Amino acid sequence: MEKTFSIVKPDGVKKNLIGEVIGRFEKQGLSVTAIKMTHLTKKQAEGFYAVHKARPFFDSLTTFMSEGPIVAMVISGDKAIEKVRKTMGATNFKEAAPGTIRADFASDIEHNIVHGSDSPESAAFEISYFFSALEQHC
Ligand code: UDP
Ligand code: MG
Repeated sequence: MEKTFSIVKPDGVKKNLIGEVIGRFEKQGLSVTAIKMTHLTKKQAEGFYAVHKARPFFDSLTTFMSEGPIVAMVISGDKAIEKVRKTMGATNFKEAAPGTIRADFASDIEHNIVHGSDSPESAAFEISYFFSALEQHC
C-alpha cells in the first residue's frame, strides 16, 4: 500500500472535473483516503511549490494555483504514485498520452487540471502540507 498526494487544480474545479479526476483514480483501483476543498493564498502556493522557486514559471504557477478553490486529496493503493502520474499524463498536455487527464482536458502547459506527487519523498511532504494524521483514513 502506497500513499500519494493529488490536487484538482483551480482550472479543473472551474471546469467541473472534480468527479472525473477522482473517478479515473478509482478506476485504477486507488482509493481517496483524505480530501478537502480549500483556496490557497499566494504564499501557501509558494510554500507548496518551493521546489520550483528558481523556475521561470514559478510566479505565474503560484498565481494560478491561488486564483480559485482546489481539491486536495490523499490517494492510496498499490503503486499509487506511478498510477496517479500515468493517469494524469505528461506535464505538457501536447506530449500527454491519449486518454490521460491532461491530454483530454488541459488547456496549456500551466493549466493542466491536476497535480500528483512524483516520488515517495514529495508525497510525504505534500501530504503533510495539507493533512494532519487525524484527517487521513485507511
Ligand atoms: N508548469 C508550467 N510551465 C512549465 C512547467 C510546469 O507552467 O514549463 C506548471 C504546470 O502547471 C505543472 C507545474 O508547473 O503541472 C509543476 O511543474 P512540474 O514540472 O512539477 O510538473 P508536474 O509534476 O505537475 O507534471
Ligand atoms: Mg511535479
